[in-house]
Amino acid sequence: MTAEIIAVGTEILLGDIVNTNAQYIARALAGVGIASLRQTVVGDNEERLLEAIDSAYKQSDVIIATGGLGPTADDITKETFAKFFDLPLIEDAHSKELMESYFKGREIAPSNYKQIMMPEGCIVLDNHNGTAPACIIEKDGKIAVILPGPPKEMYPLFEDEVLPYFKRKQSTAIVSKELKLVGIGESSAAEIAGELLNGENPTVAPYAKEGEMLFRITARAEGEEECEKLIEPVKNILYERLGKYIYGEDKITLEAAVMRDIINKGLTVATAESCTGGMVAARLINYPGASEAFADGVVSYSNESKVKFLGVKKETLEKYGAVSEETAREMCLGVAAISNTDIGLSTTGVAGPTGGTPEKPIGLVYIGVAIRGKAFVKRLELKGNRDKIRTTATAKVIQLLREKLKEEYNG
Ligand code: ATP
Ligand code: MG
Repeated sequence: MTAEIIAVGTEILLGDIVNTNAQYIARALAGVGIASLRQTVVGDNEERLLEAIDSAYKQSDVIIATGGLGPTADDITKETFAKFFDLPLIEDAHSKELMESYFKGREIAPSNYKQIMMPEGCIVLDNHNGTAPACIIEKDGKIAVILPGPPKEMYPLFEDEVLPYFKRKQSTAIVSKELKLVGIGESSAAEIAGELLNGENPTVAPYAKEGEMLFRITARAEGEEECEKLIEPVKNILYERLGKYIYGEDKITLEAAVMRDIINKGLTVATAESCTGGMVAARLINYPGASEAFADGVVSYSNESKVKFLGVKKETLEKYGAVSEETAREMCLGVAAISNTDIGLSTTGVAGPTGGTPEKPIGLVYIGVAIRGKAFVKRLELKGNRDKIRTTATAKVIQLLREKLKEEYNG
């Protein structure tokens, strides 16, 4: 099957928002073996949207549209598709009930009712995170999927309704497995994966992500079980060759893998951050069960703060400076001692754009991990702008923690 993605919204054309929906959808479609032939962006304009639909209709089996399902007059996507496919809009009783319960007895503006008028005969998809139901139109051998614009509404709809729909449609099953790696670059990892990258079924493809990388293994077969069987041996070889870099599979994030490990080991953690300003704490707390292990996060930006909240020695700061191995060491040990946690993490560095010196250039960052009174400090020379330096330092300290936990606890 082939598809075209149409993102509807003048905001996207103006550059006010980034078309992340198309990226997400294209990637998800690739995962079920549907080839995206084109992506289009159109404003909230009936004539141009009709043109876009017409052109997509002629070239692809599937048209996926996002945006413009809201209650306001400029939201015209569903109406325009109904017009194109020549289907009247009919009130959907089930969606009406859902909307009434969503508003919990508050008055529903008449404009909201427009959201429950659905193209006749379409498959209505319940939206549990908003008021606009999505829908799938099947006509003349073509499929149009119409989804709301806000990612927090669109993603779950796509995941829970649209992907299963396409999986049912496709006669062959396609299963993908992702192995996620840190501490190794894409090209080195690809080299080690070697001949596996030339396989046809399953295929193995490397992808680079901020400070991380992943291998996606994709198999096609009669059923999902058959696919799993094809994936298994290839996955095992990748584990044999690159296991020490693999932190998890599929949807798991680095912070989730690390936090899960900390919690499983019955450990607790606190953070002391200078140049990352709380980003390390924020990433660790992204993990929904973080409260079981995360105690304190201190942002100690000034020298005084490092002394006052972390117990860093004044002499250390005077002798070596705030951006130094010694300070990073005292920061991670200090925060763990004061918070009474097993683990302390620290970051201190020069993020720029000013403040660099020949001895301490922009991008020089020290990261520290203290585990039960033993500190490990690493010196980093990072490239990029302030944002990049801070994001990379954040990822690196979480990676260092993962590495040290493995070493200290044998896996
Ligand atoms: P609403 O009911 O919120 O109006 P809608 O389905 O009408 O939803 P739009 O009005 O097109 O959707 O967009 C609402 C918001 O959703 C945008 O302001 C933007 O934040 C987000 N959004 C819309 N389209 C996209 C897209 N293609 N990529 C990422 N975000 C998007
Ligand atoms: Mg809208």
